[in-house]
Parts: sequence; C-alpha cells; structure tokens
Amino acid sequence: MRRYAADRLRPEYARYDRGTPYPRERIRELAELGITGLRVPGEFGGTEATYVMGGIAAEELARGDYNVTLFIQLCMIAGDILSGYASSAVKQQWLPKLASGESLIAFCLTEPGAGSDAAALTTTATRDGDSYLVTGEKASITFAGMADAAIVFARMSGKGARGIGALLVPFDDPGVSRRIYSSLGERLSQRGSVTFDGVRVPAENRLGDESGGFIQAMTAFDYNRAIIALCCVGAAQQSLDETVEYAKQRHTFGKPIAKHEGVSFQIAEHLTLIAAARLLAYQCLTLRDRGLPHTKEAAMAKWLGPKAAAEAIHACIILHGWTGYDQDMPFEQRLRDVIGLEIGDGTPEIMKAIIARETFGREFTAYK
Ligand SMILES: Cc1cc2nc3c(=O)[nH]c(=O)nc-3n(C[C@H](O)[C@H](O)[C@H](O)COP(=O)(O)OP(=O)(O)OC[C@H]3O[C@@H](n4cnc5c(N)ncnc54)[C@H](O)[C@@H]3O)c2cc1C
Repeated sequence: MRRYAADRLRPEYARYDRGTPYPRERIRELAELGITGLRVPGEFGGTEATYVMGGIAAEELARGDYNVTLFIQLCMIAGDILSGYASSAVKQQWLPKLASGESLIAFCLTEPGAGSDAAALTTTATRDGDSYLVTGEKASITFAGMADAAIVFARMSGKGARGIGALLVPFDDPGVSRRIYSSLGERLSQRGSVTFDGVRVPAENRLGDESGGFIQAMTAFDYNRAIIALCCVGAAQQSLDETVEYAKQRHTFGKPIAKHEGVSFQIAEHLTLIAAARLLAYQCLTLRDRGLPHTKEAAMAKWLGPKAAAEAIHACIILHGWTGYDQDMPFEQRLRDVIGLEIGDGTPEIMKAIIARETFGREFTAYK
C-alpha cells in the first residue's frame, strides 16, 4: 500500500483536484490491490479483511492521495451492509461487481433538511406490489457523480429512526438525477445531490427489514469514523515527514530551521497528537474486530483525527513559508481535503455529543 501510494498516487494527487475525472481503470486497479473488496466475502471475490487491515490501507493510501481512501470507506460500508442484509439475488448480482471494481455503490443518508439529525429524513420508499417507489432528495453524497447504485435510507414505516429502512437503488433508472457540487476539497469524489423521482425498485432490493435501516447506518459510522481518522492521520504524517526534511534543508539566520526550537517543537507537538489519534483509531478498529463496544472510541477518533490533521497540515504550510502556500506543493490541497471529513460522517459537535452520551448515559443528553 505504501509503495502504491508513493509510486502511483502521490504524483497524480493534484491532477484529480483540477477537473480530470478519476478514470474507471484506476478503480479496477484498486480492486486488484484488494481495496474494493475489503469487506466482501471470499465466495464473491472479496478479501475478507479485518477492520484493522482496512485502517492500515486507509492510512497508507492517504499518504499518496487522501481522496482515494474514499473508495476504501464506501466499499467497506457497501460490502458490510450488502453481505449482512441483502437478499441472495442482490448479493449475487452486486457483491462480485463491487469487489472487482466494476460497480461503485454510494451511501445516501443525508438530505437537504436532515444531516446531524438523520432520523428526521423525509425520503420515502412506498410499497407497491412487489416493489418500492422511492421519492426524495439526498444531499452531499460522496461519489454522486460516478456511482452505479446507492444504499438509500428512506422512510418505510412511520416516524423517527424506527421508521427508516434501506434499499439498494441502481442509478440507471430515468427517475434518478444527479447534481455535482463545486467543493472546497475532495473534488475527485464528485460529491453531490441525488434526486429520486418515483424510482421503482424491486422489493428484493430491500436491505434488512423496514425498520432496520437507521441501525445499519449507525453501525457503519461506528467503524468508518476510525477509518476517517486514519485517512487524516496518513495525510498529516506525510506532510510532517516532508516538513521534517524541508526543515533540515532550509536555512535562516545561518542555520537549518530545524535548529530553531520554534520550528522543531511545533513538529514535535504535531507528531505527538497525530500518533495519539492513530492509536485511538486502531484501538477502535481492534475493538470492532473483537466484537466489543466501540461507539465512544469511534467518536473520539473522528473528533481528534481530522482536527489534529488539519492543524498539523496548516502548520506545515506555515513552516514552508511562501512555498507552502503555493499550489505546486501538496499542503493546501491536503488541508482542503481533510476539512471535508471534519464534517462528513458527523461533525465535531456531534462527536462530542456522542462521547458525552456514552459517558453520562442517555438520560443526561439531548442527543439520543
Ligand atoms: C466531504 C463530505 C462527504 C460526505 N459524504 C456523505 C455521504 O457519502 N453520504 C451521506 O449520506 N452524507 C455525506 N455527507 C454529509 C454529512 O454526513 C453531513 O454533512 C453531516 O452529518 C452534518 O450534517 P449537515 O451538514 O446537514 O449539518 P447540520 O446537521 O445542519 O449541522 C449544522 C451545524 O450545527 C451543528 N449541530 C447540529 N446539531 C447539533 C447539536 N445537537 N449540538 C451541537 N451542534 C449541533 C453541527 O455540528 C454543524 O456545525 C458528507 C459531508 C461532507 C462534508
């Protein structure tokens, strides 16, 4: 993974930030590395990786191109949800294509009026004979522009979290339309809105029962938040490594800037916080692999990882002087990219609300 990141990803990191669409062959290349099938069972062509292995892949690939780790995140979630909840026909049809990189599956939870409070979503999936009709708009969807299908969370049976079910919805129906955003960062991912206008989906595409969708989404967040932390850690560690080398070369006042404690102590502090975020994330993934509770650790990792990474990369820009502020250097793009996942999968405020809820108990929190 480290070699692939250095040889193949890092040289082209800026290219996919500046308008070039990510080539489909590249996704197949990731599939050959086992990336798209990390959580797909072996019988469907997957690699059956542990969550810790997924974390290592994310950290390493982020050293080359942070955005390529989005394939890890979305493919792990799709692999887990489909293999855990899909009908046998849907598994046969979609899991091999997910593992081989032929099909990309997005995750459609957020809506224009429901983000942090996702249980307030209003997209509906109404039963009509042996199918469902899906209507509503999903917002801020990673891979909106390039996905072939999505796991769509929709209201199936009443109010609140328990009224939400999930469906696998192919994007080739004429009732599906998409709009790609103009984003600060993570441009490779073609994030955008997906609108469903009475899209007919076979009932066998339902994932789990009509009231189980919200739990599936939250269970996926519980490890993806640690994976996100490691993506951020990888981008920050690479930036710090590059800055250490630069600080040895660049001279001011007759000596390398590394010899000014104002410089070297900053690097020491950021290295320490990044190491702490890394350990927290792997602790969470290890708990997950062992089937132990990890909601609190996931929220801690998701709060600390992106924050520590953004602060470290910001410092790397300053420590490179004017050259760090230039688009010829990767730092400004890395900073724009990691900010995206300070928000995605839950904001810092929501992470702290979860940590508090898990500490004090549900009776002491407004965030359920
Ligand atoms: C890069 C990126 C990728 C994403 N990818 C996906 C994807 O693939 N699929 C998907 O479904 N969604 C995706 N999202 C959406 C993301 O999950 C939501 O943006 C996020 O959950 C926050 O929701 P919101 O933007 O509607 O903010 P809101 O919920 O409207 O919150 C607005 C502000 O209020 C604060 N706030 C809200 N409630 C509380 C509270 N109780 N206490 C304190 N503060 C609070 C929030 O922290 C935030 O600062 C992505 C977002 C980004 C930025």
